[in-house]
Amino acid sequence: MADRKDDVVTARPTGLIYDSRFLDHDTGLALVSATVPADSVWEPQPHVASPRLVSRAYSLLNRTGLLSQLVEVPTRPATTEDIERIHSAAHVQHIREVSLAGGAEAGEYAPASRETYDVAVLAAGGALAGVDAVVEGRVRNLYALLRPPGHHATPDKAMGFCYFNNVAVAARYAQQQHGMERIAILDWDVHHGNGTQAAFYDDQSVLFISLHQEDWYPTGEGLVDDVGRGAGAGYTINVPLPAGTGNAGYLAAIERIVSPAIRRFAPELILVSAGQDPSGVDPLARMAVSADGFRSMAAAVAALADGVCAGRLVACHEGGYSEGYAPVCTWAVIEGLSGIRTPHDDPYGPWLGGMPCATETGPASAAIDRVIARHGVQWGLK
Ligand code: ZN
Repeated sequence: MADRKDDVVTARPTGLIYDSRFLDHDTGLALVSATVPADSVWEPQPHVASPRLVSRAYSLLNRTGLLSQLVEVPTRPATTEDIERIHSAAHVQHIREVSLAGGAEAGEYAPASRETYDVAVLAAGGALAGVDAVVEGRVRNLYALLRPPGHHATPDKAMGFCYFNNVAVAARYAQQQHGMERIAILDWDVHHGNGTQAAFYDDQSVLFISLHQEDWYPTGEGLVDDVGRGAGAGYTINVPLPAGTGNAGYLAAIERIVSPAIRRFAPELILVSAGQDPSGVDPLARMAVSADGFRSMAAAVAALADGVCAGRLVACHEGGYSEGYAPVCTWAVIEGLSGIRTPHDDPYGPWLGGMPCATETGPASAAIDRVIARHGVQWGLK
């Protein structure tokens, strides 16, 4: 039975940020995610980070009836000052110049078009508008269906389809504009959140926890022993999980690592880098989470936020590259955050839900144990 305070928090709606201008960032044609030379035998196709991923997610929210039960919050462009709390002036200038010149590769796997700078500024601003909405109590929590994503962007480098680091910019904004001291960032995108880690590696005011597929992109990043530096030692928790980890492994990582560590840290705000690329049909990874799994993960972190920081949680969209399934997973995440269950079934459910990893933690158990051996004393993990 929830107490009265919890009832008040959970009675508030979940917010959503989406703007059709996010679609204007043009990733062009590619072979998966790499530029194809004109004389290549391989016929190019739309870049894997296509605008249809978020437009289909927004459309699905509408078609399932979930959208009408959310509070839509408008985005706004982030200011240069907002972005330069994380990124170097030279980096911001670089993205601006590449865009102004009509577009080119702005970094490793970071194709930019003429519109990219303006859209990336608007995406970062969406994360800030989301922080404002939860801090002011207009919504209980919020999903920012942003594009382009941000978690690979380091303070001075665009990479991995990311230009400005939306969650990192939002964390500093919350600290400097809203006077918050401690921010927790959970990154469940299947790729390691190297950019976010780099921004806060020596900072004990931001707890960064990344769940990701081990030995994956970016190469060499996200090791268990990468724990932060100096005053930030122990405030980066990397949880590399073996390929094939499904719902049970992810939920175990949340229960045994994420929840107790965040409770002990006692943040005033939780940010989530919500990439739906740990799904069982993603073309860029080999995990096996289903929509049910994502719904449960989101519900768990929403409940965690209710308990530790009056519900204040902003989830920023990151990866998720199955045009068919990533939108279904995003819909399920927002159901989990809001506690609303629309009367629709996951079309892939019978398949993904039937795999052993949906119910058995399997090899992920040993991976979780290794993280607990490294961080358990500091964070009270068992
Ligand atoms: Zn990813």
